[in-house]
Amino acid sequence: MSTFDAGSALDALTNLDHPIKKKMAAWAADHLDDPALVERDRNCEFWVDGWRRAADAGVLGLLVDPTYGGAGGDVIDALLTFEGLGYGCRDAGLVFGLSTQVWTMQPLIERFGTDEQRKRYLPSLVSGEKRASFSITEAEAGSDSFAMSTTFDTIDGAGGPESATYRLSGAKSYVTMAPKADVFLVFATADRALGQWGITVFLVDRDLPGVHVGPNRPKMGLRTTPFSDVTFDGCELGSESVLGSVGSGASIFSVAMEAERAFVLAAQIGAMERQLDEAGAYAADRSQFGRPINDFQAVSHRLVDMKLRHDNARLQLYRAAILDAQGRPSMEAAALAKLQASEAAVASSVDAILTHGARGYVTEFGVEADLRNVAGGMVYGGTSDVQRNIVARLLNRPQSSRG
Ligand SMILES: Cc1cc2nc3c(=O)[nH]c(=O)nc-3n(C[C@H](O)[C@H](O)[C@H](O)COP(=O)(O)OP(=O)(O)OC[C@H]3O[C@@H](n4cnc5c(N)ncnc54)[C@H](O)[C@@H]3O)c2cc1C
Repeated sequence: MSTFDAGSALDALTNLDHPIKKKMAAWAADHLDDPALVERDRNCEFWVDGWRRAADAGVLGLLVDPTYGGAGGDVIDALLTFEGLGYGCRDAGLVFGLSTQVWTMQPLIERFGTDEQRKRYLPSLVSGEKRASFSITEAEAGSDSFAMSTTFDTIDGAGGPESATYRLSGAKSYVTMAPKADVFLVFATADRALGQWGITVFLVDRDLPGVHVGPNRPKMGLRTTPFSDVTFDGCELGSESVLGSVGSGASIFSVAMEAERAFVLAAQIGAMERQLDEAGAYAADRSQFGRPINDFQAVSHRLVDMKLRHDNARLQLYRAAILDAQGRPSMEAAALAKLQASEAAVASSVDAILTHGARGYVTEFGVEADLRNVAGGMVYGGTSDVQRNIVARLLNRPQSSRG
């Protein structure tokens, strides 16, 4: 649990011009403004140099302990940084890739890894030299992720868990960053009949015999984040590849989902603010019928709705972060924050298109890209239906146990 400073949390919650956010937004606008973005988006091309620039600026090391090359910062400051990054960088695919690594992969390795695993992976992830991917989804196991078929057998366990060796086989789908990843966090089951109790996470290096990374799969949005299927064909792994302990996969997953659910969308909330600022500026500048269009109540009220959605999403995000930082239950708050941030971004992206008229629909102005990029937020990290299921399950419990 990181230390919690109530004053700085309140400042983050209430100050839309927070200096950490502003500084990162300005840096990103200067250093991550790629003139080739529309072309790369069309061609589904990842920006390696952008990743390195973000790493050099310390983005990947925000939360990682200094022993492993990071800054050891706290969650609230990192959220502010990601909001700024989402505001200042229009390459939502790049920012999504960075977000998943900072909020999911690195914290899992740091929290559940042995010191040897941390030393092996974290410094090169923080420096941007290497990248990691989270692999749980399968063609037949999506929301029902524990129904996975990827299996591991113990080849030799006679000497106990320290010297055991395993064989991993199966296929994962929709793995973000896979085409550019060096290591995969792979969820596998010893026996499907064991359900969540049979699951273990393995750290699998890409160059291991039997690892096959499929081609990039074009998708609706976030097209500059590469994304593919990955097959593990009898990969032999030693005990040093087990993350946490054998059978602890379900608890690692629930930690990952709780944090990811809320925090991966911080950058998207920053992007919503940029979208609102740009729609507001356009509505002040564009005239029809001899008046700026923001003189029409229909337009100005739409901007207010965008503002309301953004502020709600932001408040929910920081509430979840504060509960988490205080070590209080945050499951409900995280699910609500994820729901609000993902669904509000889709509604506001439609409003942004309406406000810009045809310019909002034409690729070159970048407005339509927001709608394509944010739609995935309602699916990854647990669909909106799954988030509603979580909240519904918690509704009748005492507030103190549900966050
Ligand atoms: C941009 C993006 C990035 C992704 N990155 C990764 C990644 O890095 N690693 C990874 O492992 N996976 C990743 N995924 C996959 C993602 O986690 C799954 O798509 C998601 O869990 C849903 O699974 P599914 O697509 O199989 O849909 P399904 O589970 O088949 O769902 C289909 C529909 O049924 C609904 N549904 C299913 N079960 C229930 C239920 N119990 N109650 C109510 N409704 C239900 C869903 O809400 C949805 O509407 C990514 C997906 C996207 C879009």
